[in-house]
Amino acid sequence: MKVPLLDLKEQYKNIKEEILKVTEEIFDSQYFILGPRVEALEKEIAEYCFSKYAVGVSSGSDALLIALMALGIGREDLVITTPYTFFATAGSITRIGARPVFVDIDPSTYNISPERLESLICALSKKELKKVKALLPVHLYGQCADMEPILEIAAKYNLFVIEDAAQAIGAEYRGKRAGSMGDIGCFSFFPSKNLGAFGDGGIVTTHSDTLNEKLRILRVHGSEPKYYHKMIGGNFRLDALQAAIVSIKLKYLDHWTQARRENARKYRELFDDADLKNWVELPHEKQNRHIYNQFVINIKEKRDELRLFLSESGIGTEIYYPVPLHLQECFADLNYKKGDFPAAEYAASHTIALPIYPELSYEQQAYVVDRIKAFYA
Ligand SMILES: *Cc1c(COP(=O)(O)O)cnc(C)c1O
Repeated sequence: MKVPLLDLKEQYKNIKEEILKVTEEIFDSQYFILGPRVEALEKEIAEYCFSKYAVGVSSGSDALLIALMALGIGREDLVITTPYTFFATAGSITRIGARPVFVDIDPSTYNISPERLESLICALSKKELKKVKALLPVHLYGQCADMEPILEIAAKYNLFVIEDAAQAIGAEYRGKRAGSMGDIGCFSFFPSKNLGAFGDGGIVTTHSDTLNEKLRILRVHGSEPKYYHKMIGGNFRLDALQAAIVSIKLKYLDHWTQARRENARKYRELFDDADLKNWVELPHEKQNRHIYNQFVINIKEKRDELRLFLSESGIGTEIYYPVPLHLQECFADLNYKKGDFPAAEYAASHTIALPIYPELSYEQQAYVVDRIKAFYA
């Protein structure tokens, strides 16, 4: 049996007619950049994310970049984030000339640990603390970081909060939606995300009138009015085609999320029955609701051997992420070393993501668990 990590063709089959209709309309109009399709999506996403505004941008990475720019973060500034995330989280901080400061994760959720965040801040000198401008928590795998203590720390030390919600559209934390809790929320429409475009795309959310205006200006090279520049922005525009496709897919998102959550529940049952507790630790659902952009399990022993065995059995898996950011070669000048963030390092060498996409069948899930059982037998 073949069980790919993700099968977007299955999803496309169900929405093909609608998508082809709208792409034809856009091709006929020859209107490609920003415009009414992007504005419509912005309204829909703002509403979906319980935010006042949404501003469509060119990718999730650019969402992070423009968020940092809009908050005036730049050279000499420090931004505190997690070392266990996709590269863009910290890459965007360095690209605007600021410096990422890492805090280890809570091993039960893989998200930044508020306790460790607090102790890091307490350990900073007065001079260093003055340079810290923002906290950048990531809602990894589709589960929100523990935002209440994070927001308290931000208020206490007067810091901005940027949520990297690239994996978490629709995820909730105590009734609030991902991207609506900090100053700016950043989302990605990369095709493999749970709400993916047919190319690159992203969006930022905010409740602030001023930030909304600033983000819109920065998105077009800081131009306002046209060809007059009070600030330096970039080309961070979303195109009509991607916006229209995401609009169509957004209507199905809750249904797909429900299917992902249902698949997670089925995995829990299957793993329980297979009695693999000595080998496999399942994800902890600490926040309601987890949207399972990924279903990531902790493999206590022989992770890489298991992964190879599953691959030979036709099962796709992935490691998100094999090298924590503090150990990436390009960040050598940040002067971190192995052992600095043990929870992130452990996760990087012990976790794998299993297929969880909405169209996955029960037989496929049973086969995945059966093969894992066979490996440890
Ligand atoms: C995917 C992702 C991004 C970047 O989004 P792109 O659209 O690929 O640029 C940023 N942060 C996290 C956590 C992501 O998963």
